[in-house]
Amino acid sequence: MATGDLELAALTKRYGDTTAVDAIDLKVPKGTYCCLLGPSGCGKSSTLRMIAGHETVTSGDIVLSGQNITDAPPARRGTAMMFQNYALFPHLSVIDNVAFSLKMKGVGKSERRARAGELLELVDMSARADRLPSQLSGGQQQRVALARALVTDPQILLLDEPLSALDPFLRERMRSELKGFQRRLGITFIHVTHSQDEALALADLVIVMNDATIQQAGTARDVFDAPRNEFVARFMGGHNILQKDGGPVAVRADRIAVGRGKAGLGARLSGVEYLGTTVKLALDAGAAGDLTALVPDAAFFSDPLSLGDEVTLSWDAADEHQLAG
Ligand code: ADP
Repeated sequence: MATGDLELAALTKRYGDTTAVDAIDLKVPKGTYCCLLGPSGCGKSSTLRMIAGHETVTSGDIVLSGQNITDAPPARRGTAMMFQNYALFPHLSVIDNVAFSLKMKGVGKSERRARAGELLELVDMSARADRLPSQLSGGQQQRVALARALVTDPQILLLDEPLSALDPFLRERMRSELKGFQRRLGITFIHVTHSQDEALALADLVIVMNDATIQQAGTARDVFDAPRNEFVARFMGGHNILQKDGGPVAVRADRIAVGRGKAGLGARLSGVEYLGTTVKLALDAGAAGDLTALVPDAAFFSDPLSLGDEVTLSWDAADEHQLAG
């Protein structure tokens, strides 16, 4: 195992009768942007907190750079955590916030100020080193929190819903900043989110979780374009699920052609949503269920359909993607 590689082996967390994480196995190579994605309560935060050492492990192992860190204290694991609410100390200046954990480790004042200064430069906050957190915007506070987490030189940075407190505009900007920092640092980021868009935009490795287990681990394109099972297909969105003789299949909504001819699956148009570049059509296909088609806006408006129109749906057989039950 190379330096910076992380491995979880049969990692399990139980709280009384609740199994929050059920024997998950996962390998995350050094330098990966990894997102833990899933609905609320699926076990993402418990997994992250066990990696951070903020939660005891019920059974299984956490191995980082070949060392078993399952029971090591948080400050000795080579991991660092950035919290959702940033948790900056309100009475300390920006630079003292960043230098705080070095002070706890007994690092001398000039050395810790120099190191904190380097990190403030990395996150472009040098000009505000002497301000208090309350004098910063949300995005600036986040950059300081990031610098503070990175000051201990972690091999892995853990981020628990780091963007959820930001407004949508800032969220997208900080999202690309996070990715930029991760690339520049070359360390692994493990980022918990319940947002599909966030995971697809950021991650080299997306881990889709549900009910305390990993449903699929793969690239963003894998989990979106080739979902393994019905849960992943529904959760990632953008797919229709059809029950065929051979089991369930997924067909992407943007692969469904909507026509007025006779050939294809008959359906009635029950809803139209204009999304800008595409138009989302809700279709009632009788026994085949409710389906969704996404059509390019130009194609839709060249011959617009009206609610209640009878249409036919077709797609290439090659676009049917078999799902595990
Ligand atoms: P997520 O981060 O995906 O929302 P969590 O890891 O927080 O999921 O929670 C997984 C499950 O464990 C949930 O059923 C939750 O209620 C339960 N749980 C989490 N933390 C505790 C705790 N400290 N005590 C008891 N149950 C907990």
